[in-house]
Amino acid sequence: MDRTIAAFFDLDRTLLAVSSGTLWAKHELLNGNISPKQFGRVAIWNVLYHLSLIDIETAFKEAVAHYRGRRYDDLQLETKRWFLREVAHHLRPGASRAIDEHRGQKHRLVLLTSASTFAARVARDTWGLDDFLANDFPTDAEGKLDGTFVSPLCYGPGKVERARAWAAEREIDLADCYFYSDSLTDFPMLDAVGNPRVVAPDPRLRRAAKKRHWPILEW
Ligand SMILES: [Mg+2]
Repeated sequence: MDRTIAAFFDLDRTLLAVSSGTLWAKHELLNGNISPKQFGRVAIWNVLYHLSLIDIETAFKEAVAHYRGRRYDDLQLETKRWFLREVAHHLRPGASRAIDEHRGQKHRLVLLTSASTFAARVARDTWGLDDFLANDFPTDAEGKLDGTFVSPLCYGPGKVERARAWAAEREIDLADCYFYSDSLTDFPMLDAVGNPRVVAPDPRLRRAAKKRHWPILEW
């Protein structure tokens, strides 16, 4: 039997030409769910995140605490409406082709993102992916977010941990797998797969990729 191969994809600035987190913050600002000051903080986090200069756990804690008490199902529905209207069309053409190519080779298609499971679930359904690994949020007995997140964060080395567990359950070897990402924060996962693919990288990731002879794609 052929060994099963998975292609993992980062979402923000890899499959998408944009950061979904920034678009969500704009959506929340327009709906009055966050203040202009909070929006400014998110914008700053986003810059620091791309420079790998942020303690992501701290930023995440503050952001998630904002949603304490919100119904999980309501957030899923709102995220779906928002994603279909404001995010899905930012799929990069090269990303779309890569997804089709891997599908043609019967690879398992897995979104591996630090975005929320709310967004990842819609992305999976919209683009016909097989699965997603993303950041999820525990709920209380009434189905409301308790203001915490599932550890480890699906970010940096946390992505490797999630992907390893997912692959092990399916007897898939990461050495056979692909991972597409734009960001230096994803270096651990790029390093963990046999077929790293660097997409429109930031300068530091570009340097690291060149050194290791990893293919660099400009989608
Ligand atoms: Mg990214």
